[in-house]
Amino acid sequence: MSDRYAVLGNPVAHSRSPDIHAAFARQTGQDIEYGRLLCPLDGFEAAVREFAAGGGRGCNVTLPFKFEVPRLAARCSDRARLAGAANTLRFDAAGWFADNTDGIGLVRDIEHGAGVPLAGRRVLLVGAGGAGAGVLGPLLAARPAEVVVANRTLDKAHALVSRHVSWAREHGVRLAASALERPGDAFDVVVNASASSLQGLSSPVPPEVLGAGALAVDLMYGAAAAPFLAWARAAGATARDGLGMLVEQAAESFHIWRGVRPLTAPVLLALCASLAAAP
Ligand code: NAP
Repeated sequence: MSDRYAVLGNPVAHSRSPDIHAAFARQTGQDIEYGRLLCPLDGFEAAVREFAAGGGRGCNVTLPFKFEVPRLAARCSDRARLAGAANTLRFDAAGWFADNTDGIGLVRDIEHGAGVPLAGRRVLLVGAGGAGAGVLGPLLAARPAEVVVANRTLDKAHALVSRHVSWAREHGVRLAASALERPGDAFDVVVNASASSLQGLSSPVPPEVLGAGALAVDLMYGAAAAPFLAWARAAGATARDGLGMLVEQAAESFHIWRGVRPLTAPVLLALCASLAAAP
């Protein structure tokens, strides 16, 4: 029987993770089966325990349960501990292991997918929810000159920044929190990790945040990302959606479970083509 994995969330029907992991499994010759599991909003822990008891080997966790994952695990990676949230569980017999692969997925997509090294750059991170929390630590570890975290609820940006102060100092990065209205001008990289695109908005921050030739990344993808991407292009930036990050974070989870690292570029190409062909 194939080893079983799944993505757990609510909603989860839209998730492309099963297609991505099926492609990784074909490419690497791993015998796995990967499905979607819709969890009741008040029933995540019961659902994940039932999946593990039924023979599951590990899972991904998506909205809105990522903050519930660390307390279920016997061991957390440093990046999951720093984020206070995790998107990957491996059901080890000795105790579950939790990790957060979102941030390393974003960093790989920016540096290798978009070809923009982060070292020495000025970065604006918009959003301090689950995604913002997951990506901040790995962004800092890439040693940009500065990261400003801007959030609609300013207190949450401050809280996220204060959790990362020592990590930022260790990596020589200036780190600050800001409201959305005036986070600063002319950043080299702007990451929209807020849910604004889900609500049909173009951008939660003013166009002055984009420096000449800036890279603007929306973690959203598909039609919902189009207004942000159009806003970024109109301001002269290079625009990128969240599909590259989605494939990269999945590859890191696959590596955690299977010990092999799949090639991401062909899987991203196939995913883009299938989304473009979708009605
Ligand atoms: P979340 O935990 O619900 O957080 C939502 C964040 O968006 C909060 O910071 C919230 O601000 C902010 N926000 C909501 N509406 C806003 C608006 N109208 N204007 C400005 N800010 C607004 O959600 P999440 O897990 O962080 O997910 C955020 C986005 O990232 C989603 O679109 C998700 O699909 C995407 N994502 C993509 C990937 C990928 O692999 N590509 C991975 C993870 C997440 P407040 O604090 O003020 O509420």
